[in-house]
Amino acid sequence: MPERTCAGCRKKGEKEEFIRFVIFENKPFPDIKGTLPGRGFNVCPRKDCIKKFVKKKFKGKISHESIIEETLNQLKNYLLSLLSVAHKSRITIVGQDNIKKTKPEKGTLFISKGLSRKTAENLEKYGTTVIKGILSNEEIGNALKKEAEIGTVFVKPIGIGKKIEIIGKKLKSLLK
Ligand SMILES: [Zn+2]
Repeated sequence: MPERTCAGCRKKGEKEEFIRFVIFENKPFPDIKGTLPGRGFNVCPRKDCIKKFVKKKFKGKISHESIIEETLNQLKNYLLSLLSVAHKSRITIVGQDNIKKTKPEKGTLFISKGLSRKTAENLEKYGTTVIKGILSNEEIGNALKKEAEIGTVFVKPIGIGKKIEIIGKKLKSLLK
């Protein structure tokens, strides 16, 4: 596995630890799905690294805040589209009662902004990656193609579930 280097802090690591940015018309674009052609730069999913990268390569011509916001939005949207596929692939457990009954260990747990702090705390022990307070009940409900709003959903770490955990970790790291 070839090592990559963060264009912000110079830390070395494997491809999937970083967010890749491609330069198009003198602007960096986050390549969240890993499908954009062209020369890319790998950057840690950290606000500070994106800031350093943008400052180094674009010398004040582009605001790093706008790039961070764009990256967060893309990570969030991609995560919702993956969640939709995961649900169709039947690797999800929907709703707190079902999650408590099943007691899943490894995988990604989504807790919506709408759940109370106490309910959220009781659920957090399920899952190795917990995505909390980022998505609304409505966004999760839509991703699952449910009429109702959904407060919590668990994704097993099988197939696309593994990708969800990787993208979820990046989103969490970038929100810190
Ligand atoms: Zn870095």
